Amino acid sequence: MKYVDEFRDGELAKGLAKAIAAEVAPRRDYSFMEFCGGHTHAISRYGVGDLLPPNVRMIHGPGCPVCVLPIGRMDLAIRLALDRGVILCTYGDTLRIPASNGLSLLKAKAGVGNIGNIGSTRGDIRMVYSTTDALNIAREHPGREVVFLAIGFETTTPPTALAILQAHREDLQNFSVLCNHVLTPAAITHILESPEVRQYGTVPLDGFIGPAHVSTVIGSRPYEYFAEEYRKPVVIAGFEPLDVMQAICMLVRQVNQGRAEVENEFSRAVTREGNLKAQRLVSNVFELRRSFEWRGLGEVPYSALQIRAGFARFDAERRYGLNYVPVPDNKACECGAILRGVKKPRDCKIFGTVCTPENPMGSCMVSSEGACAAHYSFGRHKDFSGDGGNS
Ligand code: SF4
Repeated sequence: MKYVDEFRDGELAKGLAKAIAAEVAPRRDYSFMEFCGGHTHAISRYGVGDLLPPNVRMIHGPGCPVCVLPIGRMDLAIRLALDRGVILCTYGDTLRIPASNGLSLLKAKAGVGNIGNIGSTRGDIRMVYSTTDALNIAREHPGREVVFLAIGFETTTPPTALAILQAHREDLQNFSVLCNHVLTPAAITHILESPEVRQYGTVPLDGFIGPAHVSTVIGSRPYEYFAEEYRKPVVIAGFEPLDVMQAICMLVRQVNQGRAEVENEFSRAVTREGNLKAQRLVSNVFELRRSFEWRGLGEVPYSALQIRAGFARFDAERRYGLNYVPVPDNKACECGAILRGVKKPRDCKIFGTVCTPENPMGSCMVSSEGACAAHYSFGRHKDFSGDGGNS
C-alpha cells in the first residue's frame, strides 16, 4: 500500500473495525490520546470514532500548533506590527488566533477591533506559505523591518532554521524571527505528570498515538522514554484513517498483552533515528528555552526553542527588547481543559453558538486540526449522546 486512496478504503476500514472489536476485552475500558491535531482531524473527518467499540475512547491531545499558542505571544506579534511598523509575516491559520481584547492578527491587519491607542491603526500583516516567502519580502523591502512569526512543532522548525541561516549568509539586515517553536516530547511528559493523569485519574491514559510528521523529523526513539519510564505504549501513525485505526488496534493489543513499547505503524516515512540532517540544522540555530507558556498547559519547562546567541540579530525578541506578559484566556472558553484532555468540545457552553470557525473565540476553533473546529466542521458534535461516545 503506497498511495493515499488505499489508506481511505471503506472496506478495509470495516475489516479493521472488526479486528479492533475482536481484540478489545469487553470488561475493560481503553483510553488513548492522539497527541497530534492531524490525527484529531482524521478521526473527526472520517468518523473513525463511530467505528470503534464503545469501550475504546480517544482523547484529543495538545498537538495542534495554532491551538497551543497563548494569547501573550499573539499580543507580542500584534504590537510589533502596530507599534513598531514591521511587516509581520506568518502562516494562514495564525492570523485568526484570538489575542487580547478580542483582537487577532487579521483584525489588526484590517484595523478593526480594540487596537489600543499607540502606533498605527492597521498593521502590515501578510500571510505567507513558506519561510522563503518571508525572506523574499525582506529582500524586496530593504527599507522595512520584516518579522516572521514562526510557530509549530518539530515539523516546521527546520524551515525556520534554514531561513535564519540563509538570512545570515546573505547578511540580510532587515529580517528577524519571532520564535514560538515547541517540542512534542516535553508536552507528552507534562501531560503524563499532570495531576489529572497521575493524581486524580480523571484523564485515564492507556497509550498514545504518536505524531506522523513530527516523527519523520525526530524519529521514534524519543518516545521510548514514555514506554520505559511511564509504561505507556506509543504507536506512531500516519494521518490517514486506516493508519489511525491500525494504530488503535496495535495499542489495544499492547494493552491486552501487558506490553508498553514504541511501535511504528508509519514505517513508510518514520525511522527510529529520524531525519538527522534536519536535527543537526535545528540544533545549529536553536537551543532549549528554559520555559514557555502553552495555552492550556501553562508554563512548561524546556518545552520550546529559542534562537542561539550566534544568530541574535535575527531574533525578534532580542532585536525589539520584547517582554512576554501572560494573559488569561477568555473565561467562557474551555480550550485549556480540552488541550489537557480533561474536557471535550461539546462541554464548552459556547461551542457552535458564539464560537464557530467563522468567529473563533478560542484557539481550538481556528485550525482544522483544532479539536473544536474538527468536531464542528464534520458534524461530530451532533451525534454524540453521552459519555460513551468517542470524541
Ligand atoms: S468552542 Fe470555542 S471557546 Fe469553546 S473551547 Fe472550543 S475554541 Fe474555546
